[in-house]
Formats: sequence, C-alpha cells, structure tokens
Amino acid sequence: MDASNLSIREINSLFTKKELKPSELYSKVFENAANSEAALHAHLTLFEEENIKKAAESDKRFSNGESASLLDGIPIAIKDNINIKNYKTTCSSKMLSNYTSPYDATVIEKLKEQNTLFTGKTNLDEFAMGSSTENSAFGLTKNPWNTDYVPGGSSGGSAASVGARSSIAALGSDTGGSIRQPASFCGLVGFKPTYGTVSRFGLVAFASSLDQIGPITKTVDDSRIIFSSISGEDSRDATSVINNQLNIPSDNTATIGVIKELMEDGISDEAKNEVNKVVEILKSKGYKVKEISIPIIKLSISIYYLIAPAECSANLARFDGVRYGLRVDGNTSYEMMENTRAEGFGAEVKRRILLGTYALSAGYYDEYYGKALQARKEMIDEFAKTFKDVDYLISPTTPTQAFKSGEKTSNPLEMYMSDLCTIPANLAGLPAISIPTGLSKDELPLGVQIMSKPLSDNSLLDFSEIIENEVQFDGQPKGWL
Ligand code: GLN
Repeated sequence: MDASNLSIREINSLFTKKELKPSELYSKVFENAANSEAALHAHLTLFEEENIKKAAESDKRFSNGESASLLDGIPIAIKDNINIKNYKTTCSSKMLSNYTSPYDATVIEKLKEQNTLFTGKTNLDEFAMGSSTENSAFGLTKNPWNTDYVPGGSSGGSAASVGARSSIAALGSDTGGSIRQPASFCGLVGFKPTYGTVSRFGLVAFASSLDQIGPITKTVDDSRIIFSSISGEDSRDATSVINNQLNIPSDNTATIGVIKELMEDGISDEAKNEVNKVVEILKSKGYKVKEISIPIIKLSISIYYLIAPAECSANLARFDGVRYGLRVDGNTSYEMMENTRAEGFGAEVKRRILLGTYALSAGYYDEYYGKALQARKEMIDEFAKTFKDVDYLISPTTPTQAFKSGEKTSNPLEMYMSDLCTIPANLAGLPAISIPTGLSKDELPLGVQIMSKPLSDNSLLDFSEIIENEVQFDGQPKGWL
C-alpha cells in the first residue's frame, strides 16, 4: 500500500492506529516530488528541510494519542499567490520574484492551527491569469497524465502536485475556473466554495469580486475536510460572510437541472458524454432530471473579460516599483514606474491591464463596465430563479479534455473559451465542484461540474460524493510513484 494514494481520512486513521507515521508519509511525498518534479515542474519551491521538525512533532502527538485534527501531519501544497509568513510569494511573476511575505493568509493561519505540513509553493499562471500554467515567468508545468499536455490553470501546479502525489492535497484560487479546470484536466476533485465563505485575506488579489480560495484533492471528502478547516467569517476580509449553511436534499428527492447552453456547440462530444453518463446514473437511482435553459450563460465570457480585467487593472496598480517587489530605475519617478511595470509584468497580465483600463476609462465606463455589471446582475437573478426549480445544476467542467502545451498560446480568445462552463459560478458567487468521471480516447481525464445555490456547499459536497461513489473513477496517473 502506498500511503500517498490514500484519502485524508484513511491516512488519519493509519496515523491514529500507529500503523503509519506522519514523518514516513512526509518522506514519501518528497520521494514522489523527486521522481516527478523534473518532468512536471509543479512546484516553484519545496519546503522539505523546514518541515522535518514539524513532521516529527506530528509523530509525537500521534504516538502520545494527543492529536485532535484530521489535517495533523497531512502534506498540503499551496498555490504561490497565497501568503505564508517568511516565505516568498511570487505569483509566478518577475514583479514579485524577490518578495517575502510578512504575514500569513487567513487560510494558512487556519491550516497551521490544524498542524498541517506545507510541502511547498506551486506554479501558476502569472497573477492567476490563464488557463494552462503557460503564463508563468518561471517555466511551464506539465500534466501528470501526459506531459505533452497542459495541466490547466491557473492553479496548474497545485493540480499537477496532487496528481503526481507530491502532496496529499493542495490549495488553489478560482476567479473564473482556476481550481475546477485544472482539477478536471488532472483527474482530481476541485471545489470553489460560495464566494465569501473562505477569507481572501492574504490571497494576492486578481479580481476581488470573483476570487475564491479552495481545495484541489483526490476525493470529495478530502475537499470537505479542507473546506471545513479554512472557511469562516474573517473581519480582515470585507466580503467575508457568516458561513451559515443551507440544507438541500442530496438523496433522490433532489431535482437536477442539465444546463442546455453548456451542452451545445463548442462542447466536445466526449465532454457531453460524461454529463449524460452521470445523468443516466442519477435517473437510475430515482433522481428527477430536467433540461434547464439559462440563455445569459452564453454571455459569460464577455461579461467576465470586462469585469475581471477592470478589477485586475485596479488591483495591480499597487505594483509600481515603490511598494512591493521589483524596481527598475529611471531618470524620473514616472520613468521608474514605467520601466518597472514594463519589465515586471508578462504579456497576458499587460493585456488584461490594458483591457481593464480601457473598460474603466471615462466615456467607455458605462458602455462596457457598466453594461457588464448589469448583465452580471441579470445572471445572478436567472440562477436564483433556476434554483427555485432545481437543487443542483450539472454541466461539463471544461469544453474539452486538456489541450497540448503551446496549442492555444497564440490565440488568447481560444484560451479564454476553455472557461466557458466554469465562469458563471464566479459571476454569480455560487459554490461549484468538478468531479472526475472518466477518460477520453487519448486517455486524459474528463470531469463534470455541479453547481448549487449560495451557501449550500455542504449539501453540494454530499451530493457530489454520491456521484463519486457511483462513478468509481480510478484517478491515478501512472509512472510517478
Ligand atoms: N482562466 C481564467 C482567466 O484567465 C480564470 C483564471 C482564474 O480563475 N484565476 O482569467
């Protein structure tokens, strides 16, 4: 038995029964990292040395029967846009290549309280802008199922790490799909909680009204354990909400809606087949399934690519050569800022800042940004109406399987299209999860996405676990252990 393949609850039970020590598991995940990092480049930094002492402390707690936490001694990888005190937070950008965090993000504080072990910081698209982890200033990450393909993005390093078992689980951030899309490309579970349930304090902001931290894991239960540990109201995040969960039935008294607009052109037959397969299973178990139309979903990408760049242009204004990270000198302070931003940011980040500044400029504000806000409001209302009729919505997570490295880099619009199914949940603040369900004919993972109404995260996880148990996806890429 290889412990790095087990779920968090299984590992914890071995720790408790003293059949496995945290330090043994810790060595095993670093052995997996040694076998896979050269080929995959999931991590920007690995913390092996620093945590050996902490692993030994976990050993001691379990041997004395003193551990009270399911996450005690569990090695977790952290996306490198989440601050861990005294470690670098680079956001995979030259701009922050020498930046060390002076504080912990709230999610990190919470995981430290649980005695989680951090394995390292994972690669991402620069400032979380991208869908393939090809926009990192520090090199590509590859898909553990087949290294010719991208792992997805922007949390591609986190997904590749869990896929190759160089961590047991990982944290990512999801602004338009960056947890769910890479999880789906790598055969994993990716969960974006309801907006506001997990504090964004200490997450480097990309588009603040959309950003959300969440887990990438092997199983739904692992996501549940991490979500329950990192969620909760936080006075340091003004958009944080009280996590009062709604109870929705997850058994076969629930009604499921298949989103018509996400089963049409632009979605591959393979992706549709996965949804149909799950629908058949649900019907056979007595669930009521019906087709639902939410026409405004077709506008998701247009709405997102006005709102996200607008917010990013404001958030990234702070990287000016004065306050953080890189400074490139110039003859005047204006020239210094210009040189710093020209050298510090990569092409995709510059494209987004330009788009956002344009959309917010006087004369265009109402025409572009204002209209996008109106459409977003309409989408929120449409979802609220839909959830009067159905309890859960099902769709593919991504229009296709993972694509090849380099395949979409010269065509940003095509790259943007890969988030068609995931963006609506961010625009409406809904909880959404991707569950792996099968393999394509190229032997690459495919997944389905389930969404539900705000603050029904726990019910969504329960329902997803039922699907997971029925589908029995064998989620292990070969060759890294
Ligand atoms: N791929 C989307 C983008 O490029 C979403 C990114 C994200 O969720 N961080 O903006």
